[in-house]
Amino acid sequence: MIKVCKFGGTSMADAKAMNQAKSIIESDASRRYIVVSAPGKRFKDDIKITDMLYKCNQEVLETGTCEKSFSIIKQRFIEIVKDLGVSLDIEEILNETQEAIEMNKSADFAASRGEYLSARIFAAFLGVEFVDCAEMVRFDRHGKLNDDYTDDKVASRLANVERAVIPGFYGKNFQGEIKTFSRGGSDISGSIVARGVKADLYENWTDVSGFLVCDPRIVPEAKVIKQITYKEVRELSYMGASVLHEDAIYPARMANVPINIRNTNAPEDPGTMITAEPAYSKIDDGEPIITGIA
Ligand code: ASP
Repeated sequence: MIKVCKFGGTSMADAKAMNQAKSIIESDASRRYIVVSAPGKRFKDDIKITDMLYKCNQEVLETGTCEKSFSIIKQRFIEIVKDLGVSLDIEEILNETQEAIEMNKSADFAASRGEYLSARIFAAFLGVEFVDCAEMVRFDRHGKLNDDYTDDKVASRLANVERAVIPGFYGKNFQGEIKTFSRGGSDISGSIVARGVKADLYENWTDVSGFLVCDPRIVPEAKVIKQITYKEVRELSYMGASVLHEDAIYPARMANVPINIRNTNAPEDPGTMITAEPAYSKIDDGEPIITGIA
């Protein structure tokens, strides 16, 4: 049994969240490939690392350095490493990263460093291998994912790796430069890894317990959808927009890997299962016949 787990920005936001993610991973030996986002918001008005990295690039273009914006990022990562108690020369890694952002001058490169750093730290914390998605995920000259190349690389690179942490959100373009997906794209990376390793399940760990049967801004007591098909998700995609990147369905669907939306803060909740066919007869099992309302 192979499970690919993706942990989003709130699950990587600080040492406490990373500890929670660790205990989820370690409670199940089949959770072998872990795709992570950059640290997200810790509280309502907090700033995501990715947003700060775009600011770094802006500062580089305007002044030649990103000293000012990067210092906030540095502090945050140093604090995470200190709180986790992992032995990793994070200051050195951060200095190299700042230099690379200043030399590269590309917004995609700068933005990708959030996932890169988060994965380096989380791999050290779990004591497993760090595998860079830049080695595996490739875009073609039109900027579209090169599915065949990427699938082959994921399969061969991870074939003999028992457990790994992989940064989400980016790959390389046809010229070998770092290129990111659109915002929220780590969901797509997780789906790609799940397809490449022919996973039995793609668990997408986020901060809600799944898709809701209708828009909670209209119906506050809306219940979680237990099961939904890939096709239905597309129809109701507006409801899941903030839960799962819409392009994350396709790779998993191609390989028939079910996607399970799970809540890092309520790991006992079963979440929403996205599959090709409903696993039960809704009529016979007394389950709601209507999946959701758009
Ligand atoms: N960190 C990126 C973003 O904020 C990608 C992701 O989290 O999926 O959009």
